[in-house]
Amino acid sequence: MKNKLKNFLREDISNIKEYEVLDPKGMIKLDAMENPFDVDLKFESESILANKVNINRYPDGACKNLTKKLRDSHNLKSNFNILVGNGSDELIQILCMAFSKKGNTLLCPQPTFSMYKSIADLVGLNFKAVPLENDFSLNINKMINDIKQTDPALIFLAYPNNPTANLWDRNNIEKVIENTNGLVVIDEAYGAFSGESFLNDIDKYENLAVMKTFSKVGLAGLRLGYLMAENSLIEELNKIRLPFNVNSISQKIAEIALDNKDYLNKQSKEIIGLRESLLKQMLNVKEIEVYNSSTNFILFKIKNGSADEIFNKLLKDKILIKNMSKTESLKDCLRVTVGTEKDNNIFIQSLKNALN
Ligand code: PMP
Repeated sequence: MKNKLKNFLREDISNIKEYEVLDPKGMIKLDAMENPFDVDLKFESESILANKVNINRYPDGACKNLTKKLRDSHNLKSNFNILVGNGSDELIQILCMAFSKKGNTLLCPQPTFSMYKSIADLVGLNFKAVPLENDFSLNINKMINDIKQTDPALIFLAYPNNPTANLWDRNNIEKVIENTNGLVVIDEAYGAFSGESFLNDIDKYENLAVMKTFSKVGLAGLRLGYLMAENSLIEELNKIRLPFNVNSISQKIAEIALDNKDYLNKQSKEIIGLRESLLKQMLNVKEIEVYNSSTNFILFKIKNGSADEIFNKLLKDKILIKNMSKTESLKDCLRVTVGTEKDNNIFIQSLKNALN
């Protein structure tokens, strides 16, 4: 970059690394927790693009039709509202911006979804990481202690957690909610694969919000996430989202998908079955330690050897998974997304070859 411009740029940006996405062309893609099945979006209404969406007009910024369908689908009470985002990534950004008063802290267990920290850093929130126990459970005493010390404005709890794939104990999460003054956001990106949710609890606590996404259940390309929280909080957040943050085509397709919910639910159930059989196969591979999963991905550790080496060997076989090795406390760990039966079998075979 020209030096003149550099002088105007925020200095911290030069130290940020762009979110790394490897080119998946020609690869068996098992890196990003997508649904591996094609989605038949014809459903009942054929003509999403030409007839039903006026793309010459701006979208409905409030996503009224979509919000209504989501509200019905989750039986949300009238004192709660929904904010739709361009992926839940955007909602995390909106929440962090809204709570980034000088001196405020965002607290998260660690390791967890990396965007929480990246966005906190960017908007100037202090970030407090609370290490998980060795078995990836919450260190609840330390959590509560650190909450007392830092009085966080925001806490993100991925339920189940990415990248560890486990569900934290419900009682411990309730303790976190009860012991903080700040907002606790339960991020249920992988909720479809765990069967567990805190949505029925948002009535119980005034500092609880639940976030979900369409990305993991078959519609990652739409970029649609949604946050459910008490009316007055959504009202404040609505003031700072960009006016037309969710495009009309994504809104429409999501509405059609919600009218055909059983279709996507069936796929998620199938993925749970595939996960169980992939887990079983992986547990038979003695060179790796496999962690249990309540999600559509599996974290595993190379016992004697380097994850980088195995990752690269898989790449040579045109299999793309995620190398977690650089994440603190996940040395020599890899993360594989559950794919189709065929792709899972190719992965297992290639993994066994790589380990021998
Ligand atoms: N939350 C968690 C825990 C995630 O793992 C991810 C994506 N990997 C997201 C949120 C973001 O999802 P999206 O922006 O696609 O809705």
